[in-house]
Amino acid sequence: MKAIVTDDCISCGTCVDICPEVFDICDGEKAFTKVDKIDPHWEAEAKEACEACPVDAIILEQ
Ligand code: SF4
Repeated sequence: MKAIVTDDCISCGTCVDICPEVFDICDGEKAFTKVDKIDPHWEAEAKEACEACPVDAIILEQ
């Protein structure tokens, strides 16, 4: 599975709070993914972050 953060990101930081192993953010910038492929160990957290994103800016792909 891999994650993509779209330009809709409003830099709220929620995804980083939920799953810092996959998502990261710099002050005032859009979030980004730290890994090309999500370790299966973190897939549940990545899904939770996706569902928690207030603007649906995270896309998960198999
Ligand atoms: S939760 Fe969504 S809007 Fe918030 S930083 Fe992450 S991708 Fe951006």
